[in-house]
Amino acid sequence: MLKGLLENKSCRECRICCGFDKTDIWEMPVMNSDTAKELSRLRPDTEFTEKDGAFIVKAGRLEGDELFFCPALDKEKGCILGDKKPFDCSIWPYRIMDLNGTWVISICPVCGELYNRPLRELVEFVENGLGEKIYKYALENPDIVKKYDHSYPILKVLGEENTDNCLKRTIN
Ligand code: SF4
Ligand code: SF4
Repeated sequence: MLKGLLENKSCRECRICCGFDKTDIWEMPVMNSDTAKELSRLRPDTEFTEKDGAFIVKAGRLEGDELFFCPALDKEKGCILGDKKPFDCSIWPYRIMDLNGTWVISICPVCGELYNRPLRELVEFVENGLGEKIYKYALENPDIVKKYDHSYPILKVLGEENTDNCLKRTIN
């Protein structure tokens, strides 16, 4: 989804966004049932929390600086889900968030590779199609909309025509 903006090579040498600590465990990807089934087939020990047809891997309680790595991460090959990678991951580090009832597209500061790019470049990518794809997917899958976190710079506020349709559901 971020072809032309983010190189596979940068991600191969990083993988930061596939590991979570207790401060960002809320960023675990939301999976649809196809993806959750595929992950269960590949990693049968994986446990999920399910809500309205959306699945999130259970990480358990994390202590101190403990890191939980997504079970779909293979340290050599990267994500083993291939085409079934969660939408959430295919747009990362872009996020769609709910700011007091208005949906916004923001960027996660954890991804140094994109966070340090000129703002104009990041916004242009949203305007050139990504924003619309995210918005359409979120309308059908509102569980991917996260509650707004003030550390995430906002790149686009979805217009009034969009907010009228906001379903105002968030995952905490
Ligand atoms: S944090 Fe950014 S560069 Fe690193 S793996 Fe994730 S998307 Fe790629
Ligand atoms: S599903 Fe794949 S890309 Fe997403 S966090 Fe897990 S390993 Fe990373």
